[in-house]
Order: sequence, then structure tokens, then C-alpha cells
Amino acid sequence: MEQTLMNLLAHCELCPRMCGVNRLKGEKGFCGATGENIKVARAALHYWEEPCISGERGSGTVFFSYCTLRCAFCQNREIRGGEAGAEITIDRLSDIFLEQQSRGAHNVNLVTPTHYLPQIILALRDAKRRGLRLPVVYNTSGYERAEMLRLLEGTVDIWLPDFKYMDEGLARTYSAAPGYPETALSALSEMVRQAGEPVFDADGMMQKGVIIRHLCLPGHLSDSKAAVGALFSRFGNRVYYSLMNQYTPPSDRVLPWENLMGRVTAADYDALIDYAVDLGLENGFTQEEGTAEESFIPPFDLEGVFPEK
Ligand code: SF4
Repeated sequence: MEQTLMNLLAHCELCPRMCGVNRLKGEKGFCGATGENIKVARAALHYWEEPCISGERGSGTVFFSYCTLRCAFCQNREIRGGEAGAEITIDRLSDIFLEQQSRGAHNVNLVTPTHYLPQIILALRDAKRRGLRLPVVYNTSGYERAEMLRLLEGTVDIWLPDFKYMDEGLARTYSAAPGYPETALSALSEMVRQAGEPVFDADGMMQKGVIIRHLCLPGHLSDSKAAVGALFSRFGNRVYYSLMNQYTPPSDRVLPWENLMGRVTAADYDALIDYAVDLGLENGFTQEEGTAEESFIPPFDLEGVFPEK
């Protein structure tokens, strides 16, 4: 089984890019991840997820380097391109999961895990054998192949996918992600199938379920409405929705789209929330005005990546 999983890297079709490269022989596909090791930029408690994920003690985030998307407005460019991060083995990843449990994390939170799916499954199985009891959160862009997500059945408890665009043209333009809306919707359906009804513990912490995030983009209220409408008609109140206004324009470069150099207006964000309420959406998280702060982005300084001396 271990070999079968790792063999997926020999002709990598883990994500919808379907590059077909042999990562075990050092070839690189669109994401840039290669080899059998895993590159991780940070493994520490994180307090800026939704309240039922972060709680008081924090979420045990593990930030993986590289990404299968190329969002023009990416806030994590150092890890997306693999400049930040260090390579570790599957055994070390398993230790990291257990260390997050020892720190008191409410869950293990896999951030941008798609391209490391085989290694993550093996590390989680090992950590669970050694006493990992925390719920596992799969925190993804939503650009996933449902076939691959099936390999995670019984391993992931909480799905935390983005649904970024309903308009395919926007997905191509801003994230170089052809087919994003349809692909992500079918991936989300698989997540909902696996998770079933949401489950919370006595303290209101999610133990099982799906929270779909949608980041509003400046000047694209109509696409946000279309996205929320499509999600609600498919999943109704069986899932939670997180409608985010934290879009921050890049400070180190000028994007060729004027709207993406600004912020989401309060009027647009309020209009989206009103629209969601009118649809009948009940399970939602919203953000206060002014949440577009750099504090959401932790330093990618290898904290927690190597054992403490
Ligand atoms: S995970 Fe990376 S190499 Fe594999 S198909 Fe996706 S982009 Fe290509």
C-alpha cells in the first residue's frame, strides 16, 4: 500500500494539472514539488482560522511549500514558489503531527496539501498508530481531483476548501486554473459525501464537516453571488460557509488589474451577505470590516519544522 501510494509520484496526476511527471526521478510539474520528501515552511499553532477551527488553543497548522495554483494576488508567494521551506521525511512529518497534539492544538491543519497527498496519508497513518487523536483538517484551494480525494476517506475529518470563482474566465485569468469552477464543485461534492453532517464537540469545536471559504475579490460582487448561489443550491445548510473580505492587494508589485490593487468595499461585502441570507444560508462565518491585516500571514521561518534541540 505504501509503495502504491508513493508510486502516484512516478506519474503525477495528483491534481487537475495532470502533469504526468516522474517526481521520484526529480522531474518537476506545474507545482514544482519533486522527490519523495516533503517541503514544509512552518508548523505551529495558528489563531486566525474560523472560531470552530482555531478555538482558544489554536489550530495545528502545517504549511506546505509549493502550490498547484498561480493566483496573481497570492499572499504566500515565498511558499508557493518553494523559496521558503525545508525538506523533511515522512517520519518527521508524522512527528510534527504528534508535536502539534502535544502543544495543545485543537486539530492538525494541512495547509495546501494537494501535491503531497501520498506522503501526508502515510505520515498520518503512522501518527495515528502512535497516538494522534486530533481531527485532521484538509485546507485546500479547492482545485482537486475527486478521484484523489477518495484516497483520503477515513483519514480527513474536516474539509476546509476554498471556492474561489464561479466564472471560468476569472479562474484562468487570476489563477491560471482552467476548469476551476466545475472541478472544484465536484471535489467539494466528494468532501461533503465523506464528511456527512457537521459534528461539534461540547466546546463548539468542529470534529467533522465541511467549511467552504469564499474570498471576495474587489470589483467581482456578481461572481461572488454566483459562487455562493451555486454552492448553496448544491449543498444547502449541510455545510458551513465562510465569506471573507480580507483581500489584501500585494504590497510588493503592481497587478495589471486596477480592481485587484484595491480592497473589497463594505457595500459589496454587505450586499453579498444580504444575498446569502436571502438564499436561506444559515451556517455562515463573516469577517469584520478591517480584517484585511497582515496578521493572517504568519512568518515562514521554519518554526516547528525541525525537532527542538
Ligand atoms: S501535483 Fe504538481 S506535479 Fe502533480 S499533477 Fe499537480 S501540479 Fe502537476
